[in-house]
Amino acid sequence: MKRHNFSAGPAMLPVEVRQRLAEALAPSADGSPSIAEVSHRGPRFAALAEELEHRLRALMGLGDSHALLLLQGGANLQFAWLPMNLAVGRTPAYLISGHWGLKALAEARRLGPAEVVGSSERDGFRDVPEVGHLPEHCAYLHYTGNETIHGVQFEQPPTVAVPLAADLSSEFLSRPYPYADLAFAYAGAQKNLGIAGLTVVSIRRDLLARIPDGLPRYLDYRSWVESDSMYNTPVTLSWYVALEVCRWIEESRGGLTALAERNRLRAERLYRCIDESGFWSNPVAPQARSVMNVPFFPASEDHVGRFLEAAEAAGLMGLKGHRALGGLRASLYNALDDDSVETLIDFLGDYERRFG
Ligand code: PMP
Repeated sequence: MKRHNFSAGPAMLPVEVRQRLAEALAPSADGSPSIAEVSHRGPRFAALAEELEHRLRALMGLGDSHALLLLQGGANLQFAWLPMNLAVGRTPAYLISGHWGLKALAEARRLGPAEVVGSSERDGFRDVPEVGHLPEHCAYLHYTGNETIHGVQFEQPPTVAVPLAADLSSEFLSRPYPYADLAFAYAGAQKNLGIAGLTVVSIRRDLLARIPDGLPRYLDYRSWVESDSMYNTPVTLSWYVALEVCRWIEESRGGLTALAERNRLRAERLYRCIDESGFWSNPVAPQARSVMNVPFFPASEDHVGRFLEAAEAAGLMGLKGHRALGGLRASLYNALDDDSVETLIDFLGDYERRFG
């Protein structure tokens, strides 16, 4: 039976990348080391790092105006790292469209004042908020491009006259995106860029001058710019996988424009199936629905356990909703096959006929 992995992250890898990873790690007859067993300062890893940066920059459309950093610590570390570096003496502003935006805000507030300039929390995060009045001396406007739990996505970055900072964790590389227009962007790799451990950050170089002196050196973005992201030992295997995923996007999937169209069409099919059903529902306003993460709810929460059991038995995995929200969720990242989405749609119809 074919298994279909809808996990929100760590999420499925493209089959081709899994194959490459298996080959890369397979024991060699003569004992020569794998990519995970060589120095990050040696020529073999240096070539990998150079190609990865080159490919990521091309996919992101980033030029010299921005530094591209390959870090660790996930998006959660960026929630604090960003205000620690760029909000000193200025007030950061936050747009809140779900769980992760709230977490980013809470971390910023541990370091100093931060203002909410728009939030859709009162209506249960069913839409993206409008941008209200920005503070004077605004450090940046932070938003979460795609809220992975609530399934709420900004179609485009908000338009404002202050630097934009975006958590793009769960939509990174799912479509062409104006990264070069953002002052700051970050994403963990464990959704669309491979395996956990690696966090991608892009930062407009002119902002580096705002970083206060005296920070711990690890937590100063300049240390990472100056060391080509090798201030300390990088997560070398995550970099290897990220490179294979970048190659796969270009060579097997025809690039981000083709992926984006495919991703949009199949998400639309899933939402249509949910909307046309009298049993399943998704509360998010149509214009703000996530293309990557589709939360959906049965007529009664009592169905969740039974549904998950039946789904697992049918090979549909990773559909449990986040504990913060309950219900169910299908994550439709780049590596998922179209036939997995079709199988899910059929399964939702069957379940409704049997139990609805
Ligand atoms: N932001 C968003 C939008 C996410 O989806 C996640 C992870 N699901 C996080 C932040 C937290 O990421 P990490 O575990 O890499 O810190």
